[in-house]
Amino acid sequence: MQETQNSKSVRKIIHIDMDAFYASVEQRDFPEYRGKPLAVGGSPTGRGVVATASYEARKFGVRSAMPSRQAIQLCPQIIFVHPRFEVYKNVSRSIREIFSRYTDLIEPLSLDEAYLDVTEDKMGIGSAMEIAKRIKQSIRDELHLTASAGVSINKFVAKIASDINKPNGLTFIGPSKIEAFMDQLPVEKFHGVGKVTADKMKGMQLFNGGDLKKLTEDELVSHFGKTGHFFYRIVRGIDDREVQTHRETKSLGAEDTFTYDLTTPEEMNKELDRIGVIVAGRLEKNQLKGRTVTLKVKFSDFTQITRNHSFAHPVGDLDTITETAKQLLEKLDLQEKPVRLLGISLSNFHEPEIKSRKYKDPEQLELFPFGS
Ligand SMILES: [Mg+2]
Repeated sequence: MQETQNSKSVRKIIHIDMDAFYASVEQRDFPEYRGKPLAVGGSPTGRGVVATASYEARKFGVRSAMPSRQAIQLCPQIIFVHPRFEVYKNVSRSIREIFSRYTDLIEPLSLDEAYLDVTEDKMGIGSAMEIAKRIKQSIRDELHLTASAGVSINKFVAKIASDINKPNGLTFIGPSKIEAFMDQLPVEKFHGVGKVTADKMKGMQLFNGGDLKKLTEDELVSHFGKTGHFFYRIVRGIDDREVQTHRETKSLGAEDTFTYDLTTPEEMNKELDRIGVIVAGRLEKNQLKGRTVTLKVKFSDFTQITRNHSFAHPVGDLDTITETAKQLLEKLDLQEKPVRLLGISLSNFHEPEIKSRKYKDPEQLELFPFGS
């Protein structure tokens, strides 16, 4: 195993995350929505899912990716508004411009979230906390929105930190505090830990970072696969991933493990409708389209299969995604084998024609996230 040269390479990383982004933009632009429980996406008829809920709606338990039906049950007075993605993209560009006053090392994760490496900042400020403070202030003064920031020496801890005092938070976790912080961090918060892995960990009496630290690297890998290497390092506060200015998304999707096994095509299609909405929303949020739609099916015996279909042109719209997934499902001969998980993902975002800059299809221009 390699030792990291920590003395030489202590970095200053900021993770910025806008607070209830879509909902906050709507409340900013339409005063009648202020102070009210609001859902962007979804509908009062109960169709579709919530993309973002305002903080007033979150008090009732409404969350992103929740079906509208459930949101209405939790909060009958909730107001649904249509997303205005063009507006959100413009605001996102302005936010990015504010970041670029301090550094060019910016890694956007979506329209409302980014990592910044300010180890060397353009203004010579030197303090990452001071930079985060100024960025938050500029977002507030110029865009009338709030953001939360996490500051640390690596991406993982900075991202967790930005979530601690939301909304309008600013949290610093310094090198001397990282290990203690990781020790108490619940396993669900770890990158790569979904519900299934979290349940498995709890079954092994592993509840937090401190528990994971008791396992050797080999043990972690044998129980959790390749991610075990990451767990081993991160519980010791080590995360060397760089802030990548040209982040290439290879695939993007969503999947769901069901509380009971599905056996009928009707049930499965209904779930694919729901997952499709989440995937289409994520594509929109990341301004991506892909040529390949992949369906993932996991059975109750934990065996798993994937099937995919590739189009000549990138696709990203809800109907194409869900219809393709349903057709792939139909072609499988399931013979009522119980299904415990379904997933849809899109991939093949970048095509060779784009690299050679021969644009035949104007739609392909949209493949470049964030333009500049
Ligand atoms: Mg956010």
